Amino acid sequence: MFRSATEYRYNRLTWPEINEAIGQEKLIILPTGSTEQHGSHLPLDVDLFLCESVCLEVGRRAADRVLVMPPISYGLNLHHIDFPGTIHIEPDVFINFCLNITKSVAYHGFKKILIVNGHGSNAPLIDLIARKTVLETESLCFATTYFWFLMEAFEKIRESKVVAHADEFETSLYLHLAGDRVQMDKAVEDNDRMGKYVSSDSTMNYFVRFNDFWGRWTKTGVHGDPTKATAEKGKIIFEAAVEGLIGLVDELREWPIERRADMHTHPVQSQIRWT
Ligand SMILES: [Zn+2]
Repeated sequence: MFRSATEYRYNRLTWPEINEAIGQEKLIILPTGSTEQHGSHLPLDVDLFLCESVCLEVGRRAADRVLVMPPISYGLNLHHIDFPGTIHIEPDVFINFCLNITKSVAYHGFKKILIVNGHGSNAPLIDLIARKTVLETESLCFATTYFWFLMEAFEKIRESKVVAHADEFETSLYLHLAGDRVQMDKAVEDNDRMGKYVSSDSTMNYFVRFNDFWGRWTKTGVHGDPTKATAEKGKIIFEAAVEGLIGLVDELREWPIERRADMHTHPVQSQIRWT
């Protein structure tokens, strides 16, 4: 039995074992997070720690099918810069850096790559990384955010209205995974500025996309109600996220990569490059 069939952490393999993993058609998972303020009750690593924890558990349970890469620890965050500790990466730097990673694993021969995002503001960037990887390599690259897989389970147990940042959902997950690092005595509810069409942190329910500097509308750095969080809720939504992502992994591994057909009846200018 190949060791690469049971080891799910990408960088724990040797190079000959990477060759085996390519032969096993393992799907690559790239977790992405951020280093950013999450109120007075949670550490800066929330998006990174929660997303990586979910991905590593997917790896443990589907070790024969996936390899989880070391995570991306930083993201687009200038809007949080008024809060000490937040690290910001410019969008074009982030896209190019991650694209270099996806292209590297594609180069080696991995045909399926899944980027799992844990930081809302990175979502549009990750969409572009996945699309550019598909267009510039012969591999398929997919983008998702782990919280989509737990929303249905969370709907049944949530006690607060807003899902946004350092809120009931993120705090519950952190309580479940590492409760000793959560300072619940400092948890407070806070909300963004809301209009009819726009809110200052338009995470959901608004047609207009807009994110203001958080230093303009909150003194706490919280958006949502973390006081409603419990470890029990965290356990339920963690399970939902892990099982949902395993379902996605299985679907993506089956997804066909077909040959492209060229419909032109006249010569194309194949020397033109867009990159
Ligand atoms: Zn977060």
